Amino acid sequence: MAKRFSITTLGCKVNQYDSWRLAGELVRLGWEQAGEGEPDLVVVNTCAVTAAAARQSRQALRRAGREHPDALLAATGCQAQAAAGELAAIPGVALVAGNPQKPVLARMLDQASPGPCRVEVSDARACREFGAPDRLVAGDRARPFLKVQDGCDAFCTYCVVPATRGPCRSMDPEAALAHLCGLAGMGYGEAVLTGIHLGRYGVDLGPEHTLESLVRRAVALLDAPRLRLSSLEPDEFVPGFLSLAGKDKGVCPHFHLPLQSGSRAVLSRMNRPYTPELFASVVREIAAALPHAAVGADVLAGFPGETETDFAETLALLESLPLAYLHVFPFSPRPQTPAATFSGRPDAAAVRARCAAARKLSDRKRGAFYRRMEGRMLFVSAQGPVAPGSGEWTGVSENYVPVRFVPNKSVAPGTLLPVRVESVRGEKVVAKPL
Ligand code: SF4
Repeated sequence: MAKRFSITTLGCKVNQYDSWRLAGELVRLGWEQAGEGEPDLVVVNTCAVTAAAARQSRQALRRAGREHPDALLAATGCQAQAAAGELAAIPGVALVAGNPQKPVLARMLDQASPGPCRVEVSDARACREFGAPDRLVAGDRARPFLKVQDGCDAFCTYCVVPATRGPCRSMDPEAALAHLCGLAGMGYGEAVLTGIHLGRYGVDLGPEHTLESLVRRAVALLDAPRLRLSSLEPDEFVPGFLSLAGKDKGVCPHFHLPLQSGSRAVLSRMNRPYTPELFASVVREIAAALPHAAVGADVLAGFPGETETDFAETLALLESLPLAYLHVFPFSPRPQTPAATFSGRPDAAAVRARCAAARKLSDRKRGAFYRRMEGRMLFVSAQGPVAPGSGEWTGVSENYVPVRFVPNKSVAPGTLLPVRVESVRGEKVVAKPL
């Protein structure tokens, strides 16, 4: 009987993609997904981006040890890379493998045996290879991710990721295009291009390779799925993406730009290489070219030294811009990052209040953006029934509006279909297939 595995994933889209890849490689080695059954192997693909994510990673490992005492327990991912010893000390953990080990992790796990914990973590900064999978990775989402870039050389002062993921590395463009064609061949109408620092795609491949050139080539492919760009640094947005935007083809008119702060002084202490003015001009440029595009932003509240005035500048900037939503995070000091040693952290109550104010603004912006969709035709990527057996489905539009609809014909998750928005109540957007 085949041995069974389960994988728990924390953190970002890139980590999720890595887990899907690992699952596919384990299956090819003869393993099967445990599903409801008892697993022989549990892998926790950890995250280190905030203290909460690191804590949840440890909790997931402890829980797996309690719930599956006979399974082989392994940890990988960014917290495994950043704090291998801490995870190795958790009872029952038999293997801790770093991010550089991920391309060979399936074989390592296949050959692993219970016993004293083995730690296989090498220096992520020494990684030079992208290590593309040799098979298609589709995962279990209706809108699959394609990781085309890994690593980061930006060293924002609050971020542990350059240490845990290593330097910028990119997928060979021919391989990326082949993967996209493969996803289209499987019936997916949309793929999400992801990376740790996506806008730096190609820097390691040569000057002629950029994210824009990759996207241009992908869009020119006859049967390529439409592409959603997961996140772009404000200073790396290029106007070329605007001319490539479309509804059911090309680049989705949805751009996520991490602002973090609207204060010049705070951005400078964060080592973020742009100004609030540049961010504002990019958002306005997108809105002028594509009035119905969704532009989202990340906000990091409570960075050391952030004053009430700094945060008021952030809110005022966000308020003034045609944004569709915000993702709001409180500052979390990460070990071995410069910001962890910075003085002047606002007290916890102030940080909570700032996050709450930014989230309230986000709710308002999101509601107003959704209301603008009333009566519009959108192309949604069908996700699946709202609940098992329900006739109502959810879908995600080109401009990132979650839509509910009742299909008028048989539809498979991942396919694109045109709908017209009939009503918007709060966050519930109801549409009719055309
Ligand atoms: S760009 Fe900055 S925040 Fe993003 S992964 Fe790199 S160092 Fe971290």
